[in-house]
Amino acid sequence: MSNMRRPLIAGNWKMNGLADESLRQVQDLGARVGKFDDPACDILICPPATLLREMARVAVGSSVKMGGQNCHAEPSGAHTGDISAEMLKDSGARYCIVGHSERRADHGETNAIVRAKAAATLRAGLVAIICVGETLEEREADKTLDVITEQVKNSLPAGATATNVVVAYEPVWAIGTGKTPTTLDVKAVHRHIREELSRMINDADRVRLLYGGSVKGSNAAELMAVENVDGALVGGASLTAEDFWPIVKTCI
Ligand code: PEP
Repeated sequence: MSNMRRPLIAGNWKMNGLADESLRQVQDLGARVGKFDDPACDILICPPATLLREMARVAVGSSVKMGGQNCHAEPSGAHTGDISAEMLKDSGARYCIVGHSERRADHGETNAIVRAKAAATLRAGLVAIICVGETLEEREADKTLDVITEQVKNSLPAGATATNVVVAYEPVWAIGTGKTPTTLDVKAVHRHIREELSRMINDADRVRLLYGGSVKGSNAAELMAVENVDGALVGGASLTAEDFWPIVKTCI
């Protein structure tokens, strides 16, 4: 972790959470964070859109921020079932994840679509968390860095800066599997992402790079200590304050 970049610990709740229990969890997390006057990191939960407004209301004053998990590229219109970045902002979001591998795989989101969604996120005044990562097949074929290059080059929107964009490296094979890359592998990919960014934007050295994929309390400190890792994107272990807190604590 670097002094130059404020760490971000982000929870991605995916399609999990009903109101009562979710509000309890965010209250619990807020109470734990609240004991730290001036947290040294940003703390984010990206709940399902149905919970955003109420969770944002409950989190007010606690340093826990809210984000969306996905958005449509357009601000409004005839797109049944979709949600725009402006709507997420209106519901209390400060960030939006785009290009998560589950969206890329389940909804056929290409780099061009991810870039359009990232642009929409910026247009709405939110920070875009742009996800990249190789599949197991790509890793085994020694294509990891090539895949990452393609994704970074083609998913970043025009106007991306260190204040409006975060890049999350999430190897697809590590998501929800309990498997993680070695710290040397994480270091190599994060360095590669930073190099790619430095060819694209002026303040690349200030862009926060998150690691995601089976982060939990027991491995967070080791992963957060890797050079160019500025925080984590956490799925399963972000669903309860009890599991998320030890990860947050590595940065707070
Ligand atoms: C994710 O889906 O972004 C993720 C990192 O999931 P998990 O932590 O459960 O592997």
